[in-house]
Amino acid sequence: METSEAEKEMREWCVALPKVELHAHLNGSVRNSTLLELAKELGDKGVIVFEDVKDVIMKRLKSVEDVDVVLFDSNLRNDETPMSDLSGDTKRKKIYVRLLLSIDRRETTSAALDTVNLAMEMKDQGVIGIDLSGNPVVGEWETYLPALEHAKELGIPTTIHCGEMKLELSEQQVPNRKEIQAMLDFCPQRLADLYNAKHPLSICTDDSGLFSTSLSNEYYLVASTFGLSKTELFRLAQGAVEFVFADDKVKKSLRAVFERAAAETLAS
Ligand SMILES: [Zn+2]
Repeated sequence: METSEAEKEMREWCVALPKVELHAHLNGSVRNSTLLELAKELGDKGVIVFEDVKDVIMKRLKSVEDVDVVLFDSNLRNDETPMSDLSGDTKRKKIYVRLLLSIDRRETTSAALDTVNLAMEMKDQGVIGIDLSGNPVVGEWETYLPALEHAKELGIPTTIHCGEMKLELSEQQVPNRKEIQAMLDFCPQRLADLYNAKHPLSICTDDSGLFSTSLSNEYYLVASTFGLSKTELFRLAQGAVEFVFADDKVKKSLRAVFERAAAETLAS
């Protein structure tokens, strides 16, 4: 199908739009080209060693001409994020990555506690929080509650995976069946309801590699599917800054990036 000029212009606008992605899995974000390169370089070894994988991925990242990816700078603490780099030349894009360590709902209490302690240890290496993931009807809250409480005590923020699969719950399984069922039955069209109700929300890819997408593409799809204007799409992207697991200093820098971009991109 031929791409119209309007679509091309909107897609480019979405690429230029500053974006904060709050939810993306590291293993699901590997590009097809990176996987092919890994297979080519490591295939004959039979075993993939993480250190080798890291080198190949980093080499790949360096070959991206217009984007700088900053995984983390071990010389800087999280509260010293060099967001000041974001000012000035807005033509050159930078991607700042921070990590969440994930507790799988199938894990034991001690494994979940280990994950929290590891997150604490890696605080200066880009780890900024904990995620609870996996099948939402597997496991008991009692199993990972001590770990989540431990994270809270340590001041580590927590996020939760939910609504990723369609399930039918019986009355016996959960006391608040209706509410949980509504979360599990999440459908894309509900995005419009949440948006109209001004519910906090942000657009993410989850797995850009697995779904062959990009955050810019997801923003384009949201705009074209729900008929959002550039201003509405911009405000949606801007809103994500408030939900970032970061201190006020980082949020302040991010707000400034959006304010500058608003002056540049919304004025035209
Ligand atoms: Zn996810």
